[in-house]
Order: sequence, then structure tokens, then C-alpha cells
Amino acid sequence: MAIQWALVVHGLVTLLVVISFLCGQWPIFQGTFVERIHRFLTYGAYDYFLRGVVLVCGPRGRNAFLTVEDYCCERPNPILQLLYLGILGGTYYIISSTSFRYIPGYYVGEWHRYISMLAVSVGVVLFVLTSFSDPGTVNAENVSQYLAAYPYDKVIYVEKICQTCKTPKPARSKHCGICNRCVARFDHHCGWMNNCIGEKNTRYFMAFLLCHLFICLYGAAVLVMILVGELKEHKVIYVLTAYYGIEESFSALFPPVVQWLLNSYNKQILIIVFLAAISLLLFGFFGYHAHLCLTNTTTNETFKWQEYISWKTKVNEARASSAALKASIHAMNGEGKAPESKCRSFFRKSPLQNEQPVIKNNIYDKGVLSNVFEIVCPLSERRSFFRRKTS
Ligand SMILES: [Zn+2]
Ligand SMILES: [Zn+2]
Repeated sequence: MAIQWALVVHGLVTLLVVISFLCGQWPIFQGTFVERIHRFLTYGAYDYFLRGVVLVCGPRGRNAFLTVEDYCCERPNPILQLLYLGILGGTYYIISSTSFRYIPGYYVGEWHRYISMLAVSVGVVLFVLTSFSDPGTVNAENVSQYLAAYPYDKVIYVEKICQTCKTPKPARSKHCGICNRCVARFDHHCGWMNNCIGEKNTRYFMAFLLCHLFICLYGAAVLVMILVGELKEHKVIYVLTAYYGIEESFSALFPPVVQWLLNSYNKQILIIVFLAAISLLLFGFFGYHAHLCLTNTTTNETFKWQEYISWKTKVNEARASSAALKASIHAMNGEGKAPESKCRSFFRKSPLQNEQPVIKNNIYDKGVLSNVFEIVCPLSERRSFFRRKTS
């Protein structure tokens, strides 16, 4: 029974951490403990950790940690790539050594051995493609074509020169400080891939996420089918009802069945929980990026729009406040109409409420089909790209 409770607590804590990390900043969680966990995971935990390092190892230890951190987070390195291969290979090894003996089973055919191998191989191929393909590096040879392909929207993108590369910065591009190059239609620098995600490899990145989501769901489903098959083959339900006299209802049979599974197949259950948690993470991440692709936006642009909208809203509010102040001074000087009654002024709308909300006008959004086609077939790989040149 202790293992059962440990698994339930483990599952609930994992779920809470995943939800807090991914969705803790959403307005519905404002002021709740989910938001506090999110803040702790994204900012607080790191500060506490650094303080702990100073306490244990002194300022020298802290500096050594920051040097390692600089290498891991600010420079190209294969650490996370190796970690990914370790997690994937390790999980596949554990599954094959603990569960392949049940294949073929009552509900699981022999072919799942080969399908699982094929799925993992496709995942690794997509990982290699995303990691080692050109994300769309902007250089002296192609900059004029990129400038023509991506016009400036004059809102979040205006004509600029990259101070490091000394070349004009096409709209939607960004200089990646880690890779030290300008990347067209820059989305983000992915530590797991040790590469930027940009114009040319977003398609591989999306395929990678989708493939791994499928691998995790598929793995969890096959393991569940194995366990259900084992229940059937060992006639557990029959034994429980006929020999132990347990009533044949879901609520009566559920606890002893779970107990039997936890005693005999605890490794498979732990792997199912692990795969379900990773699926949840991948689902959130894939969903977010799919939304970006469908609306032809990038992660980088999402932050730029947030900054622009917040700045523009503040400017509009300041302008409205100043206009309201001028109007009240005008009224106080006795020019114009009779003074407004207190009741009327109470119900009068604030001048700030009359302000139109700042709207995001994404000129690169050409409709769902064109946006998806731009991911699958990037502009720089089309014939028209090579005919383009800015004057
Ligand atoms: Zn640059
Ligand atoms: Zn990069």
C-alpha cells in the first residue's frame, strides 16, 4: 500500500510542478500558490541555489559555478544534446529490458517491437536534422535577398545594422549571441539542439516535437495494453471474484487490481507516469509553437509585441491623462459650461477608458495555409528568393 501512495503523491507532485511551470503566469492563477510555485521555479529557486553555493563553497565556489553556467548557457555546447540522447536511449533501454518480454502479449502484437524501434530512430533523425541544419544564417551573400523577402513592418522591425556582423538586419532576423550569427525569421536558440531555430529548420523542430509527443503517448499506450493483457492472461478479475468473493463492480475491483499491478509491474507503472508527464510537457510546447506557426509569429516576436503593446498603452494613457488635466484646468478657470454635478462626474467615464486598445497588426500573417507552407517551404528555398534584390 505504501508504494501505491508514493506513486499517487509522485504523480500529483509531477502534475503540479508541470502545470505551475507551464501555466503559472496565466491570469486565472494570479495570487494562487500555482503562481508562487511558478515564480519560485523560474526565479526564486536559482537565487536560493546561488546563496546555498556561497554558504557551502564560499564566493570562489559561486564564481566557479557561474563560469560553468556561462559555458553551459551562453556558449554553444553539446551538454543538453548528450542529455537528450541519454534520456531517450536510457528510457528505451529500460522499456525494452523490462517490458519487451511481454511482447507479443494478449493485446500487443509482435510488430510493436519494430514500430517502437522505428519511432525512436525517426526521432533521432529529426533531432540530428534540427541540430545540425542551417537555421537560415544571414550573410553578405544572401542579405539583400532576405531584406527583399521580409519587408519591415515599421512597428517592431525598422531598418537596422547588426553591430556584430556589420550587415543590415532583415526584418524578423536576430543576432544570436550564443551562435554569434544573424538568423533569418529567428524563433529562439534551443539549448537541447545546440542550434538556433529559425527560418530553415522550424519545420524539423516542429516535426521533432510532434514525433516525440507521439513516441511518449505510443509508449504509454503500449505499456497500458501490456498491463491490461497481463490482467487478462492471469485471470485476475476471475480469481478475485470467484475465489476471494469480491463483488463484480468497478469500485470493488479497482483497489485490489491496482494493488496487484503495483506489486508485479511497478517498473512499468513508473515508466507510464514518466511518459505521461513528458507527453504533457511536449503537448504544451508543441501547442504553443503550432499556434505561432499558424499565425506566422515567432517566440522572439511574441516578446517584441508584448513590449510594444505595453509601451504604446503607457504612452496612450499618459496622453489621455494630460488631455484630461488640461480639460479640468480649463473648467476650473471658469471658461465654458457650468460646473458638473458631483453625481454626474462620478458616473462619467474616465478619459483613459475612451482610449482604443493597442492592436497587434502582424503583416507577416498571410492566412493559415500560406503560413504553414512558409514553414514547410521557407522563403529562402523558393526560386523567387534568388530573383529578389533590394536596390
Ligand atoms: Zn549579427
Ligand atoms: Zn543560436
